[in-house]
Amino acid sequence: MQPNNNYSDADATSKGVTVLGATGSVGISTLDVLSRHPEKYHVVALTANKQVEKLFEQCCLFHPAYAVMVDEDAAKQLEEKLRTVGSDTVVLAGACALETVASFEHSDYVMAAIVGAAGLLPSLAAANAGKRVMLANKEALVMSGKLFMDAVKNNGAELLPIDSEHNAIYQSLPLQGTTGVKRILLTGSGGPFRQREIETLSLVTPQEAVAHPNWSMGQKISVDSATMMNKGLEVIEACWLFDVASTDIQVVIHPQSTIHSMVSYIDGSVIAQLGNPDMRTPIAYSLAWPERIDAGVDELDFFDVARLDFEPPDFDRFPCLKFAYDAHEIGGYASIALNAANEVAVDSFLNKHIKFTEIPQLIENALELAPSGTPLVLEDILIQDRESRRTASLWIKNNKKQTTVL
Ligand code: NAD
Ligand code: MG
Repeated sequence: MQPNNNYSDADATSKGVTVLGATGSVGISTLDVLSRHPEKYHVVALTANKQVEKLFEQCCLFHPAYAVMVDEDAAKQLEEKLRTVGSDTVVLAGACALETVASFEHSDYVMAAIVGAAGLLPSLAAANAGKRVMLANKEALVMSGKLFMDAVKNNGAELLPIDSEHNAIYQSLPLQGTTGVKRILLTGSGGPFRQREIETLSLVTPQEAVAHPNWSMGQKISVDSATMMNKGLEVIEACWLFDVASTDIQVVIHPQSTIHSMVSYIDGSVIAQLGNPDMRTPIAYSLAWPERIDAGVDELDFFDVARLDFEPPDFDRFPCLKFAYDAHEIGGYASIALNAANEVAVDSFLNKHIKFTEIPQLIENALELAPSGTPLVLEDILIQDRESRRTASLWIKNNKKQTTVL
């Protein structure tokens, strides 16, 4: 079926944007920025897993040519609701449709904001189709590293990082390469448990873990921030994005989240990007690059910020951060295992099947089982992902017999 939507009438200079993961935290912020610039961008496709109401609402506001729901029943419900309001949006169902819209010819820019490994294939499809890929889905890069970067290079795609730290680094690096760069200073707030008694971490509830002090985000990344696995995934993400070794990346705990990351140069200069903690800044930057557009974000008030604090990361409190450094050194299979075990662990923790302190245990176990080396083809990446999920689930099953959670 051919949609009869706005992309065909769009001004030739207006860019078509597909938002993968439109109903999530990053997806919603993206649509907020797009809504401020209707003359510059038009929405070509929106996707979600199964949130019918939210996607319906977004379709009514943005009139995309396509809407994708991974869940088949949810897709049927969305289709019915859209027909009752006379919408022309074509509804597609299933995970394969994500790849279809990510590589759709009328889409110039693709916001990759699906959470977790589910975002790998559609993000890769956008890179293979030579799009401007605005990458929020860090797990995709952690899993596929070189393969993803090669897809960008070989297909003339543009890769713009959405993760606030990586966007800050991108803004602070020289225009070409990394000449004169001494190291990357990757900042992190330290999450909600930076100062909590270590002995009480086993009692942390999902509600406490998702309450991030500075950022409002989806559940999975919020738990990742609480374990600092998020910073670990970001170390690996930065290695691939900027072609540097993990030893060139220093994590700096900065509780105010005002400095979003920095680059230190051999002449003693340090260039930082600062701002209020609001994802609309990196989103607007990536949409407009190399220009700038209004993001709807308040100007930083330095008198309000008043002070900036820094401390080194505590690897005993946050073993997941150390595991991520280790995984990247071991190789690609280990990074896939780290990510897969973490996804299984976070989901189990959120469902109260395991304790907060069992998250690192599961990951350590996955790393011990991971083969050395790096997969060279997509199929091997997917096989390792499945295998690590299987063993992580088994670990939980066996462990649950001995532990009662909360
Ligand atoms: P979220 O949970 O709020 O939203 C996730 C989106 O992905 C939703 O639209 C959901 O429908 C979709 N989705 C979930 N499972 C899916 C599946 N199996 N198949 C297809 N779609 C699926 O997540 P978020 O916080 O917006 O994070 C999205 C990504 O951006 C993550 O990789 C995260 O690490 C990264 N990121 C987020 C932030 C933030 O501020 N939220 C900051 C930096 C990076
Ligand atoms: Mg980040």
